[in-house]
Amino acid sequence: MTRRIAVLPGDGVGPEVTAEAVQILEAVPGLSLEYEEMSVGAGEYLQSGSPLPDATFERLKEFEAVLLGAMGLPGVRWPSGIEMTPQIDLRERLDLYCGLRPIRLYHESHSPLKGVRAGSIDLMLVRENTEGLFVSRLEPLERRAEFAEDRMRISRKGAERVCRSAFEQARQRRGRVALVDKANVLPSMAYFRMVFDEVSAGYPEVETERIYVDAMALYLVQCPQRFDVLVTENMFGDILSDLAAGLVGGMGMAPSADIGVRYGVFQPSHGSAPDIAGRGLANPVATILSAAMMLDWLGGETEKEGAARIRRGVERVLSEEGTGTRDLGGRMSTKELGRAIREAVQ
Ligand code: ATP
Repeated sequence: MTRRIAVLPGDGVGPEVTAEAVQILEAVPGLSLEYEEMSVGAGEYLQSGSPLPDATFERLKEFEAVLLGAMGLPGVRWPSGIEMTPQIDLRERLDLYCGLRPIRLYHESHSPLKGVRAGSIDLMLVRENTEGLFVSRLEPLERRAEFAEDRMRISRKGAERVCRSAFEQARQRRGRVALVDKANVLPSMAYFRMVFDEVSAGYPEVETERIYVDAMALYLVQCPQRFDVLVTENMFGDILSDLAAGLVGGMGMAPSADIGVRYGVFQPSHGSAPDIAGRGLANPVATILSAAMMLDWLGGETEKEGAARIRRGVERVLSEEGTGTRDLGGRMSTKELGRAIREAVQ
């Protein structure tokens, strides 16, 4: 069966890393994928006046999955001063409530931590994607000269469904979930914890712990090996996923999947990295691993085998000392690393 994929390369390093991921998908034996490329992002805004034109939004909903590069450029902003973030608009408009952000160490030299082995850091951060502290994006409060404020919203529906996703992840992994909150200070977070506790009652086989976000920042640096699945609200997830990426080689090593009931958008956790764009320095691994997550989510036998094949290819290539782009301590260009992984996948 041919699966139809909308490809949104976006801005900055987005097109460079997406091109590598698509070529690797094309190299997977047995897969039948059809792609349509669409222009979304800050570049599109400069062309048409909208970073996500309505016609494009309607069109991409006809596809089975979306593979996205990166979006936004620091010099292209709304009059309010905020950057264009159509990738966040997509999460909200397609109700992609579950942000899956796997973090895995592929080679000990990628980590700034001492004495960690490849594979010893292997966790899944589950980020709530549609509310939390990002809710003011959709309902901006009046901006007065004296102060500005944002709102944190945790709804029962939002908390329940993301906690359930975290427990389902834990079932397929090592059976442990840590809730990350700030229940000691914020009423919204105490509510999140209450819902988490209710959901956990339905998963007696999954071990749970509850950790304040500040302590979690400490533990992730001190002993990331201890964690399996983490679940948290939108903003905490945003911050902790960058921290966690830093433990395994940086943003170029952090894939993600934003999943709802019907749609799935797959993209690296990083932004458009304008500081390195257009120079062949971007690490394509996060996007390549996001493409593997897409295959898993699409779900046929061939797709799942393809996903496993891509992951094994990445693992094999990165297990060699000194292999990788500059961020990993290597000397390869984006295309060279992409080619090496493609050859390992073929
Ligand atoms: P956003 O808020 O849109 O997620 P950001 O402001 O967090 O973006 P990024 O664009 O993710 O910023 O870049 C953060 C840092 O990580 C930069 O130094 C950038 O060069 C680096 N980086 C991001 N992506 C990659 C990549 N694929 N390969 C190598 N380095 C990267």
